[in-house]
Amino acid sequence: MPIAPDSPRLTVLTGPSGVGKGTLVTALRQQHPELWLSVSATTRAPRAGEEEGVHYFFHSPESFEALAQAGGFLEWASFAGNSYGTPRGPVEAQLAAGVPVLLEIELEGARQVRRNWPQAFQIFLKPPSLEELERRIRGRGTETEAAIQRRLERASEELQAEAEFDAVVENSDLAKALAELERLIGLA
Ligand code: ADP
Ligand code: 5GP
Repeated sequence: MPIAPDSPRLTVLTGPSGVGKGTLVTALRQQHPELWLSVSATTRAPRAGEEEGVHYFFHSPESFEALAQAGGFLEWASFAGNSYGTPRGPVEAQLAAGVPVLLEIELEGARQVRRNWPQAFQIFLKPPSLEELERRIRGRGTETEAAIQRRLERASEELQAEAEFDAVVENSDLAKALAELERLIGLA
């Protein structure tokens, strides 16, 4: 199995909505505070409990577009009716300081990073099955039925892209998936 290259290390974590990215990233950061997680910009409305600057920087479509036009994003993409982007400056500053950086982004963004930053290590997180993925999205209870349908349609496309990634981790047993991510990112 491959392991992430030496620092400055940029790791990209991608996987369909509901697979458990957020859950695993939260656990990773609790155990490894040295890992720096990029906070993305989005036009999506905050979910209950989400805080500005912690979970996302929340933008209007106009201010997101202005940032994109000004070259402020390392990558950005549309996902299920909203825009999401990685602010460029903070990522570059952390990498320059030798801090390991994690991006949790969707497939199109991961492809852009691959083109512009080929030394990044790219991990695809996959669910045990589409049925389990749907159970998890519904169980989270944060999306409308229309948004769930858009995310499930997108999930089918994303699952076909796993071969593009440096490593694939299945999130069936949470503790096992966490240990595998730690090993791949070089945190274990
Ligand atoms: P994502 O960030 O990929 O959209 P979340 O981290 O929000 O996904 O997880 C979606 C739901 O699945 C949450 O309710 C979470 O508690 C649950 N979940 C995550 N990992 C597992 C797992 N290994 N087994 C069962 N449920 C899980
Ligand atoms: P959610 O709305 O569930 O928070 O995120 C939806 C999707 O957007 C997830 O797949 C998440 O990984 C992705 N995402 C979050 N931030 C970014 C980003 O900065 N860029 C890209 N391309 N995708 C992102």
